[in-house]
Amino acid sequence: MQIFNTMTRRKEEFVPIHPGEVRMYVCGPTVYNLIHIGNARPMIVFDTVRRYFEYRGYKVNYVSNFTDVDDKIIKKSLEEGVDAGVISERYIEECKKDMESLNVRPATTHPQATKEIDGMIEMIQDLIDKGYAYKAEDGTVYYRTRRFMQYGKLSHKKIADLRSGNRALLVTGEDQKEDPLDFVLWKPKKDGEPYWDCPWCKGRPGWHIECSVMSKRYLGDSIDIHAGGEDLVFPHHENEIAQSEAANGVPFARYWMHNAFLNIDNRKMSKSLGNFFTVRDILDQFDGQVIRYFMLTVHYRSPLNFSRELMESARTSLERIVNCASNLTFLLKTAEGACSPEEKDLLREARKFRASFEKAMDDDFNTADAISAIFELVKWINSNVSESSSADFLTELKGELVTLTDICGLVVDKEETLEEDLAAYVEKMIAERQAARKARDFARADAIREELKARGIILEDTREGVKWKKA
Ligand code: AMP
Ligand code: ZN
Repeated sequence: MQIFNTMTRRKEEFVPIHPGEVRMYVCGPTVYNLIHIGNARPMIVFDTVRRYFEYRGYKVNYVSNFTDVDDKIIKKSLEEGVDAGVISERYIEECKKDMESLNVRPATTHPQATKEIDGMIEMIQDLIDKGYAYKAEDGTVYYRTRRFMQYGKLSHKKIADLRSGNRALLVTGEDQKEDPLDFVLWKPKKDGEPYWDCPWCKGRPGWHIECSVMSKRYLGDSIDIHAGGEDLVFPHHENEIAQSEAANGVPFARYWMHNAFLNIDNRKMSKSLGNFFTVRDILDQFDGQVIRYFMLTVHYRSPLNFSRELMESARTSLERIVNCASNLTFLLKTAEGACSPEEKDLLREARKFRASFEKAMDDDFNTADAISAIFELVKWINSNVSESSSADFLTELKGELVTLTDICGLVVDKEETLEEDLAAYVEKMIAERQAARKARDFARADAIREELKARGIILEDTREGVKWKKA
């Protein structure tokens, strides 16, 4: 498998640190509001990466944090007159609901910054002891950026270029840094802010230190993959590297993966432009599956343009895949027997779609090409199955389709996910309709057919009896 590594700017063969295992850390959202549609991109992309690794037989330890102490959370808590924890817990719950709607599986661990303060204090002290950090007069602890010789290696920035850009800070004397490049590890509390006791001052951690600490605690000093949106490359991930490698003395992550941004109608999403959408806004109009499908139709390193038209066309495309699966389910209700010799040959031919799917995913998780391979399979299935197909043939093909879509987190086999009660309900209604017909109560029989139709159930009267399928 090839992965594009932001650090080396090229695709590299994936070799895990521990054979058969993948340890990955994905920077999660700051929880002060409902997540926006841009935040959903890394969630969906890296959940798909995780699913593909699992399909390839790896055991994946997937950690994704919630940043639950931050200026924006504090601002909101002051506005609402509640504790910051009330705000963050509320939006963590809401975020989890959105993840479920998008079929993003919960991480192995979802650490929260406020529950890892001891670890942060420990790492900061370690950095001070090693000369990589210092306490300023007011109790703020800064990281001594220039001390870390490799600073800039991820974002390909040179220290010299960074200095000039930040010189203004030193001149205005706004802080007590030794150098304008230094960044905050711990800062003193202000009135009304949450704080923790520590050796330097009552206060709270800077943003970057939480990921270094949580990654170390749940995945170890060196991990396979560290991921997030491309805006995190600098300074967040650069600073994480500086902290972790100075403290631990070993490389932090082998592969750095970054998704490109999602734009709305070709413009950056922002509240001031009036084109800001939460996942919840979009879920009002489109199923979570459509959002997920849409996000995967573009390679994760390419910008993704989001628009109503594109979403509508995504819905239509996804329906084609779902219809193919329902058709197989429908045929399977009456199909029987083992594959004929011709069907065996056809199945051998059908395996080429899985091969192209894998080829695409092995090439830096090219979900766009992988989805094209699913479409090729759908087209092929539609032209190679019929009412005379054997049950084994149909089952094999359905398995193929479900396996590939499942890697993408798409649930196309609706019939299987239908609750037992729905199937029982439909059967009951069919029996009632048959009884009404027998009693020549055709109005009632038609009403039942319409009622089922309104619930997306289509009835078909055949010589073998009444069959039903989802529309
Ligand atoms: P934040 O809460 O801003 O830290 O964002 C959480 C995650 O969403 C990070 O990985 C960001 O890089 C990512 N992200 C934020 N905005 C967008 C966007 N418009 N498109 C894609 N990813 C984004
Ligand atoms: Zn992070």
